Amino acid sequence: MHELSIAMSIVEMAEEESARRDHAKIHAIHLRLGLLSGVVKEALLSSYEMACASTPLEGSQLIIEEVPVEVFCPACRARVPVPSIQWMACPQCDTPTPEIVQGKELEVIAMEIETPEPNAQHSDTSRSSAPETNQ
Ligand SMILES: [Zn+2]
Repeated sequence: MHELSIAMSIVEMAEEESARRDHAKIHAIHLRLGLLSGVVKEALLSSYEMACASTPLEGSQLIIEEVPVEVFCPACRARVPVPSIQWMACPQCDTPTPEIVQGKELEVIAMEIETPEPNAQHSDTSRSSAPETNQ
């Protein structure tokens, strides 16, 4: 499964990053996902959950920012968003264009990593009243 192997490589990368920072806890990973990347967002999200299971990332969140598709229109000489990925044409002048400038992204842009502050009294671990939602 395509998405699962992607999710696993994201988890692997995050684990390495965590290890480099003295095994800091990773809360969330932000990912930019182009609509032409060939990756299904929902499938990637559920694969991520699977890939995280019994790793230090278990319980972390994958936050996906979808990137719309933009093409370069030779007639308008401009970057324009395409209204549908089935129809690669300029919405202004209808010129079909194969020149995709954006929309194939699949990249981790940020990770929310806990930075241990020995002097600060953070108490966000004391959520004893919250029910455990992990299954
Ligand atoms: Zn145009």
